[in-house]
Amino acid sequence: MPIAEKCSGQTAKQNTASTVRRKGRNRGGRVGLIKNGKIGFIFCVCTGKCPGFAQLDIWDFINIIRNEYPVEYGFIHPMLCDEDGERFLEEFLKKGNRYIVAGCAPVMQKKLFRDAFEKTGLDINKDLVPLDVRNMKLEEALNAVKNALKEAGRDV
Ligand code: SF4
Repeated sequence: MPIAEKCSGQTAKQNTASTVRRKGRNRGGRVGLIKNGKIGFIFCVCTGKCPGFAQLDIWDFINIIRNEYPVEYGFIHPMLCDEDGERFLEEFLKKGNRYIVAGCAPVMQKKLFRDAFEKTGLDINKDLVPLDVRNMKLEEALNAVKNALKEAGRDV
């Protein structure tokens, strides 16, 4: 059985059709919003085994954000503060964009990501929006992201 059918109970064709519908709706809603730089969303899950995220359905969280919120994209990274995470950030970050990173404490994130932001010409105090979503349930974590997007001038 194709993976798409096993995962959702839909056929691959149905999956593709619903993805296209969702993307179309979201793009339509986002076009006017993202003018002065893009906002990307990264969820750092501390290997995926951290008890701090035990209450949160990480897949519902990321899928709601990437599908329904005014961000360019959303994805999960297992450990941004490890060596490969730092290499990833240096490859990935782009001047002119802002990044909401959901994970550990903001003060910790600023320490851990400072070098990568500096190397890519970004200002950690303006271009990183760090959110602590540990020990939160889904609704709480989504509200934290919504508030951050509102503060960044996004209509959510
Ligand atoms: S950056 Fe923070 S949330 Fe991510 S792995 Fe490191 S300590 Fe955990």
